[in-house]
Amino acid sequence: MEIRVNQIEKRSWIEINLSQLRANYNNYKKSLRRDAEIMAVIKADAYGHGDVQVARMLSDLGVRIFAVSNIDEAVGLREAGINGEILILGYTSPFYAQTLCSYNLTQTLVSEIYAEQLVNTGYPVKCQFAIDTGMNRIGINSDDIIQCEHIIREYFRKLNINGIFTHLCVADSKDDSDKDFTLKQIHKFKSIADKVSDLNLQYIHCFNSAGGLYYLDNSDYYNVIGNIVRLGIILYGLKPDYSNILPKGIKSAFTWKSVISMVKSVKKGDYIGYGRSYKVEHDSVIATIATGYADGLNRLLSNKGFVMINGHKAPIVGKICMDQTLVDVTSIPNVTQGMHAILLGESGKLTYNSDDMAQDLNTIGYEIVCNITKRVQRFYINSYRDYL
Ligand SMILES: *Cc1c(COP(=O)(O)O)cnc(C)c1O
Repeated sequence: MEIRVNQIEKRSWIEINLSQLRANYNNYKKSLRRDAEIMAVIKADAYGHGDVQVARMLSDLGVRIFAVSNIDEAVGLREAGINGEILILGYTSPFYAQTLCSYNLTQTLVSEIYAEQLVNTGYPVKCQFAIDTGMNRIGINSDDIIQCEHIIREYFRKLNINGIFTHLCVADSKDDSDKDFTLKQIHKFKSIADKVSDLNLQYIHCFNSAGGLYYLDNSDYYNVIGNIVRLGIILYGLKPDYSNILPKGIKSAFTWKSVISMVKSVKKGDYIGYGRSYKVEHDSVIATIATGYADGLNRLLSNKGFVMINGHKAPIVGKICMDQTLVDVTSIPNVTQGMHAILLGESGKLTYNSDDMAQDLNTIGYEIVCNITKRVQRFYINSYRDYL
């Protein structure tokens, strides 16, 4: 049976403002050197924003390099018609070597052992070497530069290697020792890129969002470490670290809405929800919101977070349930069933985005947007084409 909806009206849904995403891309790009190129990081369904939609928009804006976390994401993009370079940043079993080739995907070489396994498949997989310059996550160790160079050259002969990259792990920090650490990472990467410059690798890159913002302009390194920024979080208008200040015009394009399914009066002394964790102190009005932790609303916000209704804060009372959440609307006038509540976004003069919620949960905005589940449908508003 077909379910017909002629407007955005679900129990819980997200509105993605495409023209704001486009502005984020343009404003970030403007903050970089003119010849900087952007590799759009659209892993994890474009940080919860919808990878196909985001990739289509960015392709139209001229982006021709994308990065994802795994082969399923990469194949999904190809099947949706996304062209250009697609780099898989994480591990793919060598069993998929043929698939990597047939979809023209670029696989990260996470180690020397892994490179050898890919060679043994007999498929000429397109690859980039990850170089570990201090994060100790993936990549070949760069402490011994000669050894590192040797490995790159060996597999340059055996595989179809078109790039090398490293990942910065504290580029978002203002702390002096973190800045030193980042510069050391960049130095190590530069030494290796220098050593293999005769290979003329097409893709040499070491900057994430924060790296591009704070380190790209260092002209000493510029020609050797590449002009590519792997742009993730800032594209979505969120901050690598809460203390960062984003370039002008960059903000979250993400609004999470839900509907009020019921409004009721409760008496002083009543309890709210599972575990009776909230006791009503005064006669109150309580609204039920049709969103719960199975939608990705973190249960740690129970008795702590809030939603926004008509520009007012409605505190979450009681434990967040799997599919529903209770909020106190006593001080908000005229709240009725069918009205919308904003969980993330703007309401009247209030703004509460994923970075703000992350602060309340002692985590990062990345995790907030990634953890909103598939059943929360994404809708796209303000076609970026209207503004081209
Ligand atoms: C996720 C990721 C990025 C993007 O980082 P942001 O902080 O979101 O810009 C870049 N490079 C690698 C290797 C990543 O895993």
